[in-house]
Amino acid sequence: MSLKINEIFYSIQGESLYAGLPCVFIRLTGCNLRCTYCDTRYAYDEGANIPLAEIIRQVEAYPRSSIVEITGGEPLLQGKTPDLIAQLLARHHTVLMETNGSLDISQTDRRCIKIMDIKCPSSRMHLFNDLNNLRRLEPKDQIKFVMGTRADYLYALEILSQLPPDYPKSHVLFSPVAGILPPQTLAAWMLQDGSGARLHLQMHKIIWPEQERGV
Ligand code: SF4
Repeated sequence: MSLKINEIFYSIQGESLYAGLPCVFIRLTGCNLRCTYCDTRYAYDEGANIPLAEIIRQVEAYPRSSIVEITGGEPLLQGKTPDLIAQLLARHHTVLMETNGSLDISQTDRRCIKIMDIKCPSSRMHLFNDLNNLRRLEPKDQIKFVMGTRADYLYALEILSQLPPDYPKSHVLFSPVAGILPPQTLAAWMLQDGSGARLHLQMHKIIWPEQERGV
């Protein structure tokens, strides 16, 4: 049983409510989308098949206190991803999964914390959003909107209005596309509207602005 892996690395979590914590990242190869702002194009094809036992061995070579994040690419494209998540959970790891929101998230163990993108129009991938996932999320999960324009922001507000009433809005992350939408602009919109969402900056890009891989 194996998965095609682009990279396994140890860094600071920068993309969720867990931002700031040391984290082992498992980046899977392959993505079914092509977002305009994608910063991990190298993960579309590059990678090697690695047995699950070897992936876990590499993860556990890092400090045990760290969380583990499965990312991509799109992790759910590979059929064995739920098996890897189940095995990590069985070994008492806290497991996060970043997913682009185009595939059914319920195929993974409920204990896995999903950080789900909802693609906005300027990504040119928003028609691939599986909005049925809004009903599959649990309060511990998180939603991320990456925004480049005012139209993206208004789109996100519209989607927010479709969330179940008990879903915690503080688990909704509004993230500006780096170099396109100034964080100050997004912050001003959020202060006006009071949607309850959280402003989210990519912490690893602030810490390591020049580094494209392994952070
Ligand atoms: S879903 Fe993620 S990895 Fe895939 S194209 Fe979009 S930004 Fe890149």
